[in-house]
Amino acid sequence: MTQAAGTIDTGIASSRASLPSPPNYWSYSSLKEVEACPRRYALARATYPDLWDGRGYPSLPSTPALFGDVVHGALEVVVKALAEAGVESPQAVEATMVLRDLGGLTSVVEEMVTKKLAPLEGNPRLDLDRRRRIARELRAQTPDARVQVQTYLSRTVFAPRPTGSSSMRDGSAAARGGASARRALGEGSHAEAVLVAEELRLLGRIDLLTIAGESVDIADYKTGVEAPGHHEQLRLYALLWDADRQSNPARLATASLTAAYRDHDVDVPVPSSEDLDALRVSLSAQIERADAELRLGVPTPLPSPANCEWCAVRHLCAAYWEGVTRELTAIGDGEWFDYEGRIGKQNGQRSWWVVDPETGIDQLLLRTTSSTPPFAPGDHVRLLGLRYELDPEAHTPVALLTASSEVFQVVSS
Ligand code: SF4
Repeated sequence: MTQAAGTIDTGIASSRASLPSPPNYWSYSSLKEVEACPRRYALARATYPDLWDGRGYPSLPSTPALFGDVVHGALEVVVKALAEAGVESPQAVEATMVLRDLGGLTSVVEEMVTKKLAPLEGNPRLDLDRRRRIARELRAQTPDARVQVQTYLSRTVFAPRPTGSSSMRDGSAAARGGASARRALGEGSHAEAVLVAEELRLLGRIDLLTIAGESVDIADYKTGVEAPGHHEQLRLYALLWDADRQSNPARLATASLTAAYRDHDVDVPVPSSEDLDALRVSLSAQIERADAELRLGVPTPLPSPANCEWCAVRHLCAAYWEGVTRELTAIGDGEWFDYEGRIGKQNGQRSWWVVDPETGIDQLLLRTTSSTPPFAPGDHVRLLGLRYELDPEAHTPVALLTASSEVFQVVSS
């Protein structure tokens, strides 16, 4: 991996990376990401002009992750419309009219499916078969997504807005315009409210913030399983609400924090003012560390099994490949693994030898599902997601390049 100021040559074909600078504002998720592995944060958010003109490294989407995005996205659309209409409850007659104006819940979910599938079109990591498979699977789950959105909605509590209040005076304008477009949030429910702690350069987008008199409730929709990080995130939202003088000029205190899961809500204890002070200090230090990492030539890699196993940019990370073993005897039948080697001679119609790039000795017999795989003899490759196959008749380890495996050409080390 070589570097010029602000760039990395990752050694993988078409993957020269222009690294990101520290952002104007940090968010909870970006801080967590950079803390877990600064190198991953930088590689995932760098630009790759030789690969595509999209933002960051192309992701490898999975149907379950996209399903969660569809549910969350559709919920956002509906909750925002209901909040702006000032309805008191999703069961109210006015709510039915709002949903009808949106074209109905099924239509909202279908539109969200289309919206989430659209970026897959230009993704250089997905071939046509994979794109079609994901699209088919996601569309088949539209009824389930609709049921999930309904379940979340049925438990959502809104507060009506005073008659004559304008939605443009609240966080919905901020949701469209970002940190600079914020205004004081008034009585009522506010979807996608953007809150900012200017002195920390910290920003959060709250799924639903409800003000009823002096009482302020913050709710965040979670489409995955419960995790301690969700509590941490909600406590950070309480800090943002406390610190945001534009959205909260009266400095109203947070009354409740709710992590809303598919079939239940979890109340998160509201931090005291002492807790908020301590949180402010620790976040300030965390942001300082994160800024310092991104100002380094190349941010630090933190390889570990937990970090690297699902890292979407591990093929670009030299630190990861230093630890990947070429010794395959410890891998069991059916296990998934990554491997770096040079493609040797063809063995059969759908099998190739993979040799050690330094010694040239056969290491692995690679079987493929296609007779025209994306490599040629002599190529130095990084292979992601191979499946080990126990073959008592073979004298060397055997692996299968499946439809979900990936092949990356190494052009320099
Ligand atoms: S492979 Fe591991 S060390 Fe490398 S960027 Fe990914 S998480 Fe970080």
